[in-house]
Amino acid sequence: MPRPIIATIDISALQHNLQVAKARAPNAKVWAVLKANAYGHGLERGLRGFAAADGLALVEPDYALRLRELGWEKPILLLEGFFDTADLDAVIAAQLETAVHCGEQIDLLEQILPSQPRSFKLNVHLKMNSGMNRLGFPPEAFRAAYTRLRALPEIGNITLMTHLANADDAQNPGLPLQEQMARFEKGVAGLPGERSTANSAVDLMHPELRSDWVRPGIMLYGATPGGQTAESFGLRPAMTLTSEIIGIQKIATGEAIGYGSRFVAQEPMVIGVVACGYADGYPRHAPTGTPVVVDGVRTGTVGRVSMDMFSVDLTHIPNVRVGSKVLLWGDGLSVDDVAHAAGTIGYELLCAVAPRVKMVEI
Ligand SMILES: *Cc1c(COP(=O)(O)O)cnc(C)c1O
Repeated sequence: MPRPIIATIDISALQHNLQVAKARAPNAKVWAVLKANAYGHGLERGLRGFAAADGLALVEPDYALRLRELGWEKPILLLEGFFDTADLDAVIAAQLETAVHCGEQIDLLEQILPSQPRSFKLNVHLKMNSGMNRLGFPPEAFRAAYTRLRALPEIGNITLMTHLANADDAQNPGLPLQEQMARFEKGVAGLPGERSTANSAVDLMHPELRSDWVRPGIMLYGATPGGQTAESFGLRPAMTLTSEIIGIQKIATGEAIGYGSRFVAQEPMVIGVVACGYADGYPRHAPTGTPVVVDGVRTGTVGRVSMDMFSVDLTHIPNVRVGSKVLLWGDGLSVDDVAHAAGTIGYELLCAVAPRVKMVEI
């Protein structure tokens, strides 16, 4: 018997959310982003959920090859590009598309591409660092990088790509979104090619900034990058993580709960023990009060999360017993709410679900 913690993946929710992304950007083509094992949902489930996408995008070359093995024939994009010569060989063999974000990658392309057959074409996505200061060529070096790539006859389309740092947070004191887009526009001025600038946050909150390609990730899984709720955008949670109560303690005033005795009861309480801990991917830093639903009633965690268990307050929930159903996040409790309470983001919780958690699909 496995432990009662189960992640249920709703493939129809993935399909639905992709339709929402498409409807929000009717004139754009969609890269469905399924890096990190489809944000923790499983690569094959992502593949089935996103069959209607124009392409699939991820950062792991080995997973990209797996998508080809699984029969995906439409474009696949490596968002961080290739990491070494062996990767580039794989990119060529599997007809992947690749981001190009640094001079070293162009050096490798110049070495390797001339030995390809004349008919071979590699589509690349030339990435600009427009102010996030992570990957990409600075605006003033972009044209020179473009020219180097265009000089290679084996290069097919060059898509002009950037990634926005603050699309999810209008209050951010850092680089304003419009300023970042202005840097991008300046850097690409006069260069032909399609543009790719939008992640989920742009798709959901800044429709005016969508371009030829959109690259939604988190929204496809039914969570949001911040701001409004996923539900308000018509998105449905794709992962529902559930478990059960495996023990109940009736405790007196003054009794403490869990490691470090971080929570001390101020009144007599009924405490339930949930089969879910940080070794399942539940955040250890979730404080007392992090939302949990037991038998359909919203309550909160109490005390520290341990490796395989944490405690919840059942004091005001009638008829709870060992075996009562516990909803950790998903349909009925947004992963974004749980993440917010724990000081993190839904992305991290979804990606962190541990291999020992049984995953089933509906
Ligand atoms: C992960 C990623 C995305 C998707 O971002 P979300 O916030 O999940 O929508 C888009 N573009 C790039 C380059 C990424 O790495």
